[in-house]
Amino acid sequence: MKKISLGRAPDNTLILSNSKISSKHCEIHDDGNDYLIYDCDSTNGTYINGHLVRTSIIEKTDRLVLADYEIDLQKVLRAFDYLKEGDKIPYPELSNHIAEKESNASIKDKFLELENVYDDYIAKKKKIMLVDATKKTGIRAGLAFIPVVGPALGILSSNVGGNVQQKIMDLDEEHKKNYVCPKCYKFFGNEPFENLKKRGFCFACKTKWLEQ
Ligand SMILES: [Zn+2]
Repeated sequence: MKKISLGRAPDNTLILSNSKISSKHCEIHDDGNDYLIYDCDSTNGTYINGHLVRTSIIEKTDRLVLADYEIDLQKVLRAFDYLKEGDKIPYPELSNHIAEKESNASIKDKFLELENVYDDYIAKKKKIMLVDATKKTGIRAGLAFIPVVGPALGILSSNVGGNVQQKIMDLDEEHKKNYVCPKCYKFFGNEPFENLKKRGFCFACKTKWLEQ
């Protein structure tokens, strides 16, 4: 078992000098088969693809964020190949300060853009379903009876063809990346934008989007 530790303290493998990073923030272990990440009771959390995690198996392509630092996970995991006991990871560019990088748009602006992201997703999903329904029935008039929003989509998708299912999966995959909290990147799932706006804050990171 090999491990890489990330944190503010000088005895970490990758040292991140920022007050939002805990002295020992998280560890990544290589058990020979998988890479596992463990949050070390950090104050501001360890996020994989927007999800707050305690422990998780990770892949090179995952997005790792600690507090407001995005870590270049590919380079960190590559370090397992050359690091010896007690070595440091020598690249300061391994982490980007997200708050600096994305300072052009405020959290509020980015949140409000999600209305378009959500509407666009629903419109595209409707279109995919309707095209499939038209093919199946051949009767355009029948379209009025097809439920196309909300939970009904899940039920309907069990009846649709493989090609349509693939299109929906691709669309959902894209949506998972875009329909996320602008602060912590947590995916909002099926929650409509109107609900988010009414509530006004993130369940995961507690950010009040409209006051940022
Ligand atoms: Zn959040």
